[in-house]
Amino acid sequence: MTNPHPVHVIVIGAGILGTSTAAHLARAGARVTLVTSGKPADGASGRSIAWLNSSGARSTEYRYLRLIGLDRYRTWRERHPESDAYLRFDGALKWGGENESFRDTFAYERAGGYDAVWLDREQVAELTPDVNADAVAEEGAIYNRGEGWVNLPDLIAALLAEAVADGARVIENAGDVRVDVRDGAAVGVILGDGTPLAADRVVLATGGHVPGQLAALGVPVPDATPSAFVVITEPVEPRVRTVLNTPNVAVRPMPDGRLVLDADWAEKSIVVEDDGSITVPDASVEGLLAEASRVLAGHPTLTAERVAAGLKPIPGDGEPVVGVVPGIGGLSVLFTHSGATLGLILGELIAEEIVTGAPSPVLDAFRLDRFEADRELGEVGIGAWAPVTQ
Ligand SMILES: Cc1cc2nc3c(=O)[nH]c(=O)nc-3n(C[C@H](O)[C@H](O)[C@H](O)COP(=O)(O)OP(=O)(O)OC[C@H]3O[C@@H](n4cnc5c(N)ncnc54)[C@H](O)[C@@H]3O)c2cc1C
Repeated sequence: MTNPHPVHVIVIGAGILGTSTAAHLARAGARVTLVTSGKPADGASGRSIAWLNSSGARSTEYRYLRLIGLDRYRTWRERHPESDAYLRFDGALKWGGENESFRDTFAYERAGGYDAVWLDREQVAELTPDVNADAVAEEGAIYNRGEGWVNLPDLIAALLAEAVADGARVIENAGDVRVDVRDGAAVGVILGDGTPLAADRVVLATGGHVPGQLAALGVPVPDATPSAFVVITEPVEPRVRTVLNTPNVAVRPMPDGRLVLDADWAEKSIVVEDDGSITVPDASVEGLLAEASRVLAGHPTLTAERVAAGLKPIPGDGEPVVGVVPGIGGLSVLFTHSGATLGLILGELIAEEIVTGAPSPVLDAFRLDRFEADRELGEVGIGAWAPVTQ
């Protein structure tokens, strides 16, 4: 039997986190309105490397969250065989730069039971023939066979279709949407043109804009969001399958044979003007193309089809910020890096919290109130924590 008075939830932001939340809420029987300033996937989700992983030294809780994030992608693949085109688990390879060994990383991953094998150059050539084995570090590389990639705009489109089929309303081109807070509670949102929309609950999922919006509501959140860019190449033959994280370039395939490239050094070369506009130096684009060609078998000639730049959402301590916003009734937030890996699981868990009213223990480590002590000390703000790179 359908609930005659379902809770009405407005989700702000149609990136992967907002769209996943909207789809899971609608599936659970909530009345859902998803509002977004422009088109879906026009933020970080539309220009992400979107490597699906639980790699690297992070807190136990964050590693676990990313592992169950990967699990939900495998469930998605089972439910959506057509996702084979935009969601792949073809493995990922990473190696260190000069004077940088990845042996400790490998030991760390193995100690945690993570699917990692060490490959020498010969094995790289055998197992990942799309990679130029000569470009690999002399000591070898870590191969994570269980990792993969997702093309988020395709996943967002599929989630939107599900949400709409389950009764959700989607409002695009809504401008700069604000949370409508009265007497300490979120009562809805105000669209860019001033139109108010009432709701029982509001979810803020506006990516790199979350800290500014929460600050405007009197809730400062540590923020380490940088400007970032990716280069998208023209299609390359033969197709690349492996996700690569190398000292000077990260490479991930797209469904149609194009590649997405980025790197920390290139990100740092960005010039951000006072008005927020971003200039990406041509030399950085050329450098990424050259590096990608160098690490791929056959040194393909790579051409940039386009460069996509904007904010890369990263909370100040590098860990996700998820759940109810203290002091503002009815408002929940989602703000995280690794949002590609976490997109399905966070949408599912936050929707469950809202519909059932029961907080998810998995999210305990990621709540906003972990910053309370620092807030009392007056240490919360941009730059209060060391930025964490991808
Ligand atoms: C270069 C790069 C590489 C990355 N690599 C990886 C990776 O390898 N693996 C991984 O897991 N993650 C990676 N990430 C992170 C991941 O892509 C992000 O965490 C994720 O896409 C964030 O999704 P989101 O929904 O929070 O934000 P977004 O995708 O930014 O979506 C927010 C949406 O809200 C809208 N919006 C903003 N303000 C308003 C407003 N006031 N009113 C209405 N709408 C608004 C925007 O238009 C946008 O559509 C990477 C990100 C970048 C940029």
